[in-house]
Amino acid sequence: MKDLLFPIDTQFPVIKTLDAFDFSFPKSINKSLILSLFDLHLIEEKHNVIIMGPPGTGKTHLALALGYQACLQGIKIRFTTAMNLINLLSASLADHSFITTMKNFTSPRALIIDELGYLPVDKQGAELLFQVISNRYECGSIVISTNRAFRDWGKILNEDNTLASAAIDRLVHHGTLVQIKGDSYRVK
Ligand code: ADP
Ligand code: MG
Repeated sequence: MKDLLFPIDTQFPVIKTLDAFDFSFPKSINKSLILSLFDLHLIEEKHNVIIMGPPGTGKTHLALALGYQACLQGIKIRFTTAMNLINLLSASLADHSFITTMKNFTSPRALIIDELGYLPVDKQGAELLFQVISNRYECGSIVISTNRAFRDWGKILNEDNTLASAAIDRLVHHGTLVQIKGDSYRVK
């Protein structure tokens, strides 16, 4: 969304807030851990957040709410889905705008990568995603949402367990895992 509220092109698809999140709905969620993330120290410290859980459990909601909170504090943040990130970087290889496109994903202080795991990623896609994770390592935060457990990331990333382990290693080294369990809020 090119949001007139913010002097930043966040690409948020919608605005979600922490206030609108009902912590009593999921079967299992660490509320105090999540609330602690909203002090945004993680962005100061270039830490990552991995939000893991089944569809409809509020992963995107929480990622967007975190992004919104950061925006309110003037922190430069960018939202993308994993697929959009891969598509934009792949296209940029063809039209020689790779460096500029990569900068769009590495320069914001926090990058939200939503929906890792729903769509299969090919070899090039897996490598491009890894480059973003690697370029941001210890330089800027990533908030990533996924419906898949870490043990399945090799399957998601073109059956490349080595690349998946290297990506997970970088994400979790300075990272917080937020696990949500329960039913989809969409079918509530
Ligand atoms: P996910 O990304 O995990 O698939 P979403 O964050 O897109 O799920 O949630 C689906 C919809 O349900 C969104 O409209 C979201 O705002 C809403 N939602 C999910 N969980 C909650 C919750 N615990 N409290 C309030 N709204 C929720
Ligand atoms: Mg989602």
